[in-house]
Amino acid sequence: MDELFITGKKILEKLQEEGFQAYFVGGCVRDYQMGRIINDVDITTNALPEEVETLFENTVDVGKEHGTVIVLIDDTPFEVTTFRVESEYTDHRRPDFVSFTEKLDGDLERRDFTMNAMAMDKEFRLIDPYAGLEAIRRKTISTVGRADERFDEDALRILRAVRFKAQLDFEIDEATLLAMKRHAGNLRYIAVERSLVELKKTYDADYTEEIKPLMIQTGVKDNLPFLREVDDNNFMSTNAFSFISETALQVYMNESLLKYIPDLKLSNLEKHTIREMVEVLQDLEYDKQVKAISYKYNYDTLENVEALVAGNRFSKKLSWRRKLDEAMEMQPLLPIQKISDIDIGGKELMLHFGQNGGRWIREIYSVLEYEILFNELQNEKTKILEWIDVHVEFEEGNIKLA
Ligand code: ATP
Ligand code: MG
Repeated sequence: MDELFITGKKILEKLQEEGFQAYFVGGCVRDYQMGRIINDVDITTNALPEEVETLFENTVDVGKEHGTVIVLIDDTPFEVTTFRVESEYTDHRRPDFVSFTEKLDGDLERRDFTMNAMAMDKEFRLIDPYAGLEAIRRKTISTVGRADERFDEDALRILRAVRFKAQLDFEIDEATLLAMKRHAGNLRYIAVERSLVELKKTYDADYTEEIKPLMIQTGVKDNLPFLREVDDNNFMSTNAFSFISETALQVYMNESLLKYIPDLKLSNLEKHTIREMVEVLQDLEYDKQVKAISYKYNYDTLENVEALVAGNRFSKKLSWRRKLDEAMEMQPLLPIQKISDIDIGGKELMLHFGQNGGRWIREIYSVLEYEILFNELQNEKTKILEWIDVHVEFEEGNIKLA
C-alpha cells in the first residue's frame, strides 16, 4: 500500500472520530483502481474548512471559500475539501458560487469524468455511483451527466479530456467527443494559467500519438493561446517532449510567433528557456563555431536541444547532433566559463589605465573574452596586462584597439 494512502487513512480516521464523513476521492481513487502510481491523495469530507483547520495541527489555507484546506502531515500535503455542489455557471469557467453539501453523492456528481467521480472509504471500499470502474475497465473517458451541459459549465474539462487520454491511453466516448467539438470555442474564456496546467500534463504524458490530430479535429488547438496561431501542418510536424520545447520548435520554424509567447503567461525561466532553445537552433543553422556555442549556453540547454534535434526532422540533423555533443564535451575544457572568470578585476583595469570606471571596462572584458577563447591569450593576469599594453590605447575616455 502506498505510503500516501497509509497517512491519508489517518486523516480519514481522525475526521470520523470527530463525527464527520470522510473519503479518498478523485484522481487517487482512479489511479489506485488502475494500479497506477499515486501522485497525491485528495480527501473529501462534510467537515467545513474551519473545522478541518481546528482538527489538524498543520494546515494551509489555499482557498477556504472553495472549501479546500491543505493538511500537512510530516510535510506531505493532503488536500481536504468540503463536499460541495457548484451552482450556476454563467461564464463557462467558474461556478458563480459554491455551496457545501452534507452528501458525498452531490460532491461526486459535480466532478468531470466518471473515472474521476469515485470515492473510497478508509477500508478502501469503493463508492462508485457513476460507474467509473466500468469506464476504467472499458478504457473510456465520459462525462458525469450530459456532456454538453458539463462542457458548457466549464470548458476546461474539454482540455482535461485530452489530457487524460494522453495520460491513460483511454478513448473518449462518442457523446463526450461530439460535445467537445461543439463547445471547444468556449476554451477562449478559460484563464491561460488553468489551460497551461493541462497542456503541460498532456505533453508530459506517455500516450501522445493521437493527441495532435484530436486537438485539431475537436477545435481545441484553435482555441488555445499561442497554439491557435500555429499552422496545422507545422503543429503536426513536430515531436516535442514538453510544451516548452513545442513552443521553441514552433517559434524556430516561424519567428513571427514570437509575439504570441506573452499570451501564455509563462514564468521568466520558461520564457528564457524558449529563447535559448530557439537561439541554439539558429546558431546551428548559421553554422556558428562549436566553441562559441559551447561557451554561450549552459549544459542543460544544449542537452535539451540535442534531444529535440534527435527526435525531430532537420535536414542537417547528424551534423547538428555532432556539434552539440562536441559543444557539451568541450565545456569543462574551455579556458573560461564566463566573463567573471577572466583573471583581472575591474579595479585593476582602472588602476592600470589611471581612469575612472565606465563603459570601457565592459568593452575591454568582451575583447579579452574573445581573445582568451579564440586567440589563445592565456587567462593570467600578467599575460593579460602584457596583451593590453600592446593592443589597447585610450583616447578621449574610450578604448581603441591597436
Ligand atoms: P492528477 O493525477 O493529474 O492530479 P486528478 O484526477 O487528481 O489527476 P486534478 O486536476 O488534481 O486531477 O483534480 C482532482 C479531481 O477534482 C479530479 O479527479 C476531478 O474529480 C475533480 N476536478 C478537477 N477539475 C475539475 C473540473 N474542471 N471540473 C470538474 N471536476 C474537476
Ligand atoms: Mg490531483
